[in-house]
Amino acid sequence: MRIAMISEHASPLAVLGTIDAGGQNTHVAALAQALGARGHDVRVYTRRDAVELPERVAFAANVEVAHVPAGPARPVPKDELRPFMEPLGDWLASRWQAEGWIPDIIHAHFWMSGVAALRAADPWRLPVVQTFHALGVVKRRHQGAADTSPPERLNDERMLCQRLTGVVAQCRDEIRELRRLELAPEKVTLIPSGVDLVRFQSTGPAAPRSQRRRVIAVGRLVERKGHADLIRAMCRVPDAECVIIGGPVLAELDDDPVARELRALATQLGLADRVRLTGQIPAEQMPHWYRSADVLVCPPWYEPFGLTPLEAMACGLPVVATAVGGHTDTVAPGITGDLVPARDPDALGRTIQDLLSDGVRHRAYSRASLRRVRTRYGWDHCATRMESMYRRIAAHTLTEVTA
Ligand code: UDP
Repeated sequence: MRIAMISEHASPLAVLGTIDAGGQNTHVAALAQALGARGHDVRVYTRRDAVELPERVAFAANVEVAHVPAGPARPVPKDELRPFMEPLGDWLASRWQAEGWIPDIIHAHFWMSGVAALRAADPWRLPVVQTFHALGVVKRRHQGAADTSPPERLNDERMLCQRLTGVVAQCRDEIRELRRLELAPEKVTLIPSGVDLVRFQSTGPAAPRSQRRRVIAVGRLVERKGHADLIRAMCRVPDAECVIIGGPVLAELDDDPVARELRALATQLGLADRVRLTGQIPAEQMPHWYRSADVLVCPPWYEPFGLTPLEAMACGLPVVATAVGGHTDTVAPGITGDLVPARDPDALGRTIQDLLSDGVRHRAYSRASLRRVRTRYGWDHCATRMESMYRRIAAHTLTEVTA
């Protein structure tokens, strides 16, 4: 199949862990690669955010990444990109027309890409499927006035739910949210994200560690990721160290307001010698860090899906996570890890401490994590399901267009 993916702000080529680059970039990269490896002709369209970027990059077998004009060719926060989506859609349609490369299906990632995708699809009535990755209604509920999303977001998401051919939900919690947006149930397919089981394994090099037990957390340094709750929780986990990975590179952490707040909090609680911020770690070194730890803690206030539990589990690490979003599907409580209420540092601390002091349970969780991730969350699994959904939707659309 000819598959056009649009991921307007999240390039598969981006550096992960920075402000607008995380799970979506990893997801788009791995999905495109897995589909290309199956012989599909995949083109990923992402915004040109630097003048020197090449127009096209051969990314993997049968996968090309194209840098497309959508707004100025410099970094722009994703919340400012909405005005460029219709022009992006028009640009894509004329590019496909000029090249005679008309996709069989368009897969949009993030709501704004959906707006561009519908526009690009229009001349040929192409089918458009969407992965939201995050929903504006959920963000608004949790962040209230602090939500910097453009005002169109909520209406656009409702409009997309009406007009899209299909929607990929990544977890059951997202299905519930999509129903509230009045998405017709027959449009939804549940396909969780995958994890790279070759890169993330329980054996291999590990980052250096001390005698102390190690708790790690991985994520962008934004408030809703709950790092402050974890630091508070560490008061209940004596003698363990807490390593927080993500944000700008180490040399620039002093300039990061969230990093400064987290360090100040650790100092105020007398934990400065047990809390360490590493800054951004290159993606290829992430398995080393998971393998160096005793537990991954995922403390966000909300989390649309969350790739890090899968990465950690693939390295044989139990996960203690807040009972939000994708965590309630990926973490099997009492089997591979534990779930705790969000924004409750006491409960979080007690749960981490209980697990770290129970070697038998820790080993059992570790073995069960490996089993769970291998049987359910390999990329091959995800790509197979995505492929059959594309085929079903493309065949259906063809019948409708020719009828
Ligand atoms: N990541 C990384 N280096 C870092 C921090 C994060 O490579 O310093 C990666 C991490 O391994 C994962 C992704 O960024 O693949 C984060 O994805 P997740 O879904 O957990 O969170 P998001 O950032 O999308 O909210």
